Amino acid sequence: MSSVPKGRNQSKEQVIQLYQGAKRIHPKMAKGRFANLRLLMILATQFVFYVVPWFNWSGRQAVLFDIPARHFYIFGLSLGMGDLIYLALLLIISAFGLFWWTTIAGRLWCGYSCPQTVYTEIMLWIDHLVEGDRNKRLKLDKERWNFRKIRIKTIKYLLIFIVCAWTGITFAGWFTPIRELVPAVFTLTAGGGALFAAAFYGFMTWLFAHQMREQVCLHMCPYARFQSAMFDKDTLVISYDTERGEPRGARKKTASKEEIKLGDCINCTMCVQVCPVGIDIRDGLQYQCIGCAACIDACDEIMDKMNYPRGLIRYTTESVLAHEYTDKDIRKRLLRPRVIGYGAVLAAAVAAMIAGISTRETLNVDIIKDRGVMVRENNQGWLENAYNLRIINDSEKEQRITAKVSGFDEISLTGLPSDGLTVPPKETVTVPVQVATIPEYADKGSHPIVFEFTYREAGGEPHTIIEKASFIGE
Ligand code: SF4
Ligand code: SF4
Repeated sequence: MSSVPKGRNQSKEQVIQLYQGAKRIHPKMAKGRFANLRLLMILATQFVFYVVPWFNWSGRQAVLFDIPARHFYIFGLSLGMGDLIYLALLLIISAFGLFWWTTIAGRLWCGYSCPQTVYTEIMLWIDHLVEGDRNKRLKLDKERWNFRKIRIKTIKYLLIFIVCAWTGITFAGWFTPIRELVPAVFTLTAGGGALFAAAFYGFMTWLFAHQMREQVCLHMCPYARFQSAMFDKDTLVISYDTERGEPRGARKKTASKEEIKLGDCINCTMCVQVCPVGIDIRDGLQYQCIGCAACIDACDEIMDKMNYPRGLIRYTTESVLAHEYTDKDIRKRLLRPRVIGYGAVLAAAVAAMIAGISTRETLNVDIIKDRGVMVRENNQGWLENAYNLRIINDSEKEQRITAKVSGFDEISLTGLPSDGLTVPPKETVTVPVQVATIPEYADKGSHPIVFEFTYREAGGEPHTIIEKASFIGE
């Protein structure tokens, strides 16, 4: 705030506000096909979030990201630290999936699946359920505090607290067995880490989805800023058809268009009233628009009432609005270089992920040369090198491993039991081993040798892993 001092022509001190707090937006509830689609997406995503952690698989939680044990379980898949590559691939797939989809269909992710949109919508349902639709909420906000207002707000915040608390506990349940966590939370015996995760996520849900709402999309979300780099003039965007709508103006339902000389927009402002970010789509494409399509539903409803064709606000492309082609031809513009490029990287990452997971070894061995002993003579008079075998069992069953080594006509491997070493499930063991050969074969310098490991689960098929190493000669 700054004040302007009194001058010759100023009788009063003038106060200029340099900061203005964001006004609470109370969008009207939209009804229609896109609202139904959004509802379906919310149910689907929340089913995954709230219900999947309760599924069991082979006696354990079906999906569990056990960070302390550095082990992830996804139904039949058991991934350990040796499988971090799949996590990297998953991130690549998510990123390119988003790029690809954004190039084709704009902000569909934001409008239908982004957790910020989904939880904001849930909070709006609670607002609507407890306080009523937009007009009632606006009136209630202006009302002085009285018993009725306190009662309504208390019920609302109680419901919000239950949703946020359950969301936080469920979030923690993706990382800690949820069937043990939930009773432990209620008996106050849960571990500090799990309690912190639940409280933090629950608090952030309240802060982002209830308190900040559209402010997160407007000021915090990086995707909102860089997504325009993926847009082109054939990307699907939600647009107001200015040519058809203008000049806008109120009219009687029975008035003929020829008489009134107005476009199809009756200036009812329903598209603005339903907008969760408080913009007017008639002002053109704006970065604040999250692509929720609530304005399409609202406008279609008005068009139906006026007996005008739907689609004054619709999914379309810049090229259509510039009359380069019609809405019917949008599909023909799908195969564009950018779409093909993102799609190719996405397909390659998905193929690599599928191929990698279907052929992955459930036991991995790292061969680490013992740097303290480059080469020594053993009691047979052979040259000997020492190694540490780091054996990682990523399976949920114990595995037995045997090994042999090749590289010289005469070579021996000692340190592993001759009938094999048993590695417990999800464990990493380190075993020192020695490789020896007669001195004539290994002159000065490094010689390539090959370890061949064979492992199998009880009653399972044997698998072989080949690993290269080097032997230092005299
Ligand atoms: S809902 Fe449709 S008719 Fe009403 S103001 Fe918006 S664009 Fe115009
Ligand atoms: S302008 Fe329409 S699509 Fe964009 S955020 Fe507002 S209601 Fe949703």
